[in-house]
Amino acid sequence: MSQAKYAELVLLGTGGGPRIWAARSQPASAIIVDGIVYIVDAGNGVTVQLAKAGIDTNAIKSVFITHNHSDHVADYGTLLLRTWQSGHKGPINCFGPPPLKKMTNAYIDYMDWDINLRIQHEGRPDFRSMLNVSEIRDNTTVYQDSNVKVDCLKVPHGEADPSFAYRFEIDNKVIVFSGDTSKSEELINFSSQADILVHEVINLEGVDAIVKSTYPGNEAFRNHIVEGHTSMAEVGEVARKAEVKTLVLNHFVPTGSPVLDKEEIWLAGVGKNFKGSIIVGTDLTKIPL
Ligand SMILES: [Zn+2]
Ligand SMILES: [Zn+2]
Repeated sequence: MSQAKYAELVLLGTGGGPRIWAARSQPASAIIVDGIVYIVDAGNGVTVQLAKAGIDTNAIKSVFITHNHSDHVADYGTLLLRTWQSGHKGPINCFGPPPLKKMTNAYIDYMDWDINLRIQHEGRPDFRSMLNVSEIRDNTTVYQDSNVKVDCLKVPHGEADPSFAYRFEIDNKVIVFSGDTSKSEELINFSSQADILVHEVINLEGVDAIVKSTYPGNEAFRNHIVEGHTSMAEVGEVARKAEVKTLVLNHFVPTGSPVLDKEEIWLAGVGKNFKGSIIVGTDLTKIPL
């Protein structure tokens, strides 16, 4: 019998949204299976967070993007480029909704000058040919290797269509990433009995503070935030109905509020509807699967 794989989830960045703050890095996570690394989302700061977590970037095999909002892809190109510059020889498989190919090519154009110099003068392999980029448009099995099987599910996230959740199957364990989503019945089925559900969360009280500090009185902006995300009470309901073993909260909105971005507040808000194990995610938290 083959030995069980050792797998862990590492939260690299847990702050949701495009603004600048110091409290949390933007969304990114890693799943490590027997030393092989799979990345979910690549928000601003992902490369530094990988280094801080002590993760070997040469072991990155695949990158999965949930959707193309900037907080999830701001450092997608930087992740690939710095990984190459740190010695990765490829291939890296990248998956995400359109226009991921265009974005990848645009980033390569943006860094073309640097890339060419390094290939010519530092004897590096070709950066472009180490990337396998696939766009996903609908529910499907995205990827499979000897460690993981990865399925995706379309989730409702306002006008950001398509946006995806990902379900990783590792041996007989399951970990699901909600991505950015409003409350979704399909996601409840998709994450049924999961060992870990990593779910985004919003504190409705905090939304008014965000709107006030950025675009006061902008109702459209407020509705955009509320309608595209899942409230604390709803996250609890999703986890309860899905009967997940552990719920990991992630993509906190608001992030960095000294009043609202507090463990006890997230726990209380979500715990009303879910009595199972809840982990309030923080950057660089490692969770064995
Ligand atoms: Zn987001
Ligand atoms: Zn989003």
